[in-house]
Amino acid sequence: MVEDVTKEYHIGRQRIQALRGVRLEVAAGAFVAIMGASGSGKSTLLHAIGGLDHPTRGRIVVGGDEITALDEQALSAYRRRRVGFVFQKFNLIAAFTALENVAFPLIFAGVPLRQRRQSAERALEAVGLGSRQQHRPSELSGGEQQRVAVARALVNDPDLLLADEPTGNLDSQTSLEVMKLLREICEAGRTVLLVTHDERLAGQAGHIVRMRDGAIAAES
Ligand code: ADP
Ligand code: MG
Repeated sequence: MVEDVTKEYHIGRQRIQALRGVRLEVAAGAFVAIMGASGSGKSTLLHAIGGLDHPTRGRIVVGGDEITALDEQALSAYRRRRVGFVFQKFNLIAAFTALENVAFPLIFAGVPLRQRRQSAERALEAVGLGSRQQHRPSELSGGEQQRVAVARALVNDPDLLLADEPTGNLDSQTSLEVMKLLREICEAGRTVLLVTHDERLAGQAGHIVRMRDGAIAAES
């Protein structure tokens, strides 16, 4: 999936090697936890796999498509149709209801209103929030807000869910609930890549990949 990927950032005259020849094979339908110290390149790797950022060198192949060879338009279609993202910050729109937040990405996919509503309802039900459709983010707990964010990531029916420290702002009980949800999403046939600092949560994934200084230090 990830072949010899390197990412360099340039800030002024300084060169930062965020990824140094990362190789990673992820089977379709796998649940992989990515661990490593802050600055080890976890987010950079996730962004490259999700087509949010271009690696400097190397190839990334997802579901048979070489995404590192796509032009901007094809890459944006890849992100829109095949990838769901969840971040530590829930990034919900405060003025929108849960339903509107979940339906929002479908506007850019050109989906008509009725269908947007139906898909968003289904996604909210899938994360156990069918009864919270009309709540605004401020009327939901942190765990519920993250579940809305997960529903938004699933609304386009992606093959790949990328979650970058999704439990970083949640207490340990709520983190376990979000973890259970990610496991269910994986069992439903999606590939899940989760960045976490929590050994206990990582232990629930099928595999653990440990990064150090922009490279994979260990896999289990
Ligand atoms: P992690 O997610 O493991 O904490 P990151 O992937 O965010 O690590 O960062 C890896 C390295 O790349 C760090 O040294 C970080 O400072 C650097 N870095 C990340 N994003 C940028 C950027 N946009 N510009 C410059 N350097 C960056
Ligand atoms: Mg990070």
